[in-house]
Amino acid sequence: MTLLEVVTIDGPAGAGKSTVARRVAEKLNFRFLDTGAMYRAVTWAALEGGLEASESKNLDQLLCDLDLSFEAGGRLMVNGQDVTSAIRERHVTAQVSAYAALPSVRKLMSRAQRTMGEVGALVCEGRDMGTFVFPDAAVRIYLDASAQVRAERRAKELRDKGEDVDFDALLNEIKARDAADSSRAVAPLKRVPEQHYVDSSDMSRDDVIANLLAIAAKGLDGAARS
Ligand code: C5P
Repeated sequence: MTLLEVVTIDGPAGAGKSTVARRVAEKLNFRFLDTGAMYRAVTWAALEGGLEASESKNLDQLLCDLDLSFEAGGRLMVNGQDVTSAIRERHVTAQVSAYAALPSVRKLMSRAQRTMGEVGALVCEGRDMGTFVFPDAAVRIYLDASAQVRAERRAKELRDKGEDVDFDALLNEIKARDAADSSRAVAPLKRVPEQHYVDSSDMSRDDVIANLLAIAAKGLDGAARS
């Protein structure tokens, strides 16, 4: 089997995938793809259009018209509008799992992701990158942390921005999103034995990056030799 020059990093909400995956991509001189941002963008557009999270002709039309692109500097544009901040708002986060569970949404997103991976030199992070979109990736990682630790990290980020935090509500939101993402019918979040498992609960961010880089370098080297 030909292995794609792709590094996949999957895991639950708030495991810090985005930050570490971006750094790993920089170090490897690979492109970086935040697939959660893509599902958030669809959710944002559907909410703007007043569309419910269910299959419909209107949703098909919205997906057909969707012009989604990552600009230099990582800004995300949807139909000409910069949605980089808007997709991180709480109402989008609360609804994204419902839209991401829809087969029509997943079909369009996974097709676009595969197109980006075909040329290689890609680090991507999400929920189903190594299990569904790129099962033939050279390196597949599952980045985990306990729900308590993930909620604590998120609470700190919000407090640092000056926001009030209801810790229990935050923890419950994270658990609810994990449950929804793990139980959907199409391409759910799951751990498979072929993934390198990294539990970051007791690790610093720099340690996680170093760990993932070592795994990626070894896997890419092995794939290049095979
Ligand atoms: O990673 P992030 O928290 O931004 O992801 C937002 C949501 O997008 C997830 O909770 C999940 O519902 C969806 N998602 C997905 N498949 C991916 C990436 C994200 O279903 N590959």
